[in-house]
Amino acid sequence: MHRMTSTQARRMRRPVLQAAIDAGARCTKADPDLFFRADGEPPATWQAQRAEAIRFCHGCPVRTACEELALRDGDGNNRVDDMVRGGRSGYELVARRELQTQRLKAAVTADEASDEEWKKLTAAAVKLNREARRMPTRSGGMPHQAELQRQQNQKITKLAAKLAVVRAARRARTGWEVAA
Ligand code: SF4
Repeated sequence: MHRMTSTQARRMRRPVLQAAIDAGARCTKADPDLFFRADGEPPATWQAQRAEAIRFCHGCPVRTACEELALRDGDGNNRVDDMVRGGRSGYELVARRELQTQRLKAAVTADEASDEEWKKLTAAAVKLNREARRMPTRSGGMPHQAELQRQQNQKITKLAAKLAVVRAARRARTGWEVAA
């Protein structure tokens, strides 16, 4: 896969960056816990884990796209050192964002203005996550819990399928359809 430079990533709109990540993210084959500090994880353990996660990201073909999206998404926190994304710790992301405030603001504004479909996709993903977290509850006259669970699973499957169709179309348009 062609590796994009940081300059190229900065010029791209969100759908292209996201499609690149969907197609080439190395972490899809990794333990997601590698990138996040566990509750109560001692600093020394986290430092070693963080270094390993950063090394892992630096072998990822879409690292620059991932870093750019992390910056646009506002990832990182200057008070809590607990994550790695795009080959950067949360602290590093905050520091880089502060150096590029104006550029990132313009990029986010352009993303929002140019991408109605992205807004729909985000809304669908939010809906899916909300549904997946919802506990089906019983009330008087309602069907048995197992039936409620079955109905919820059906709804989740339908939402996920809808999301997959939109994502596949986006990937195809942005030229990442083969790997995606
Ligand atoms: S740079 Fe790291 S976090 Fe981003 S897609 Fe690649 S492996 Fe995953």
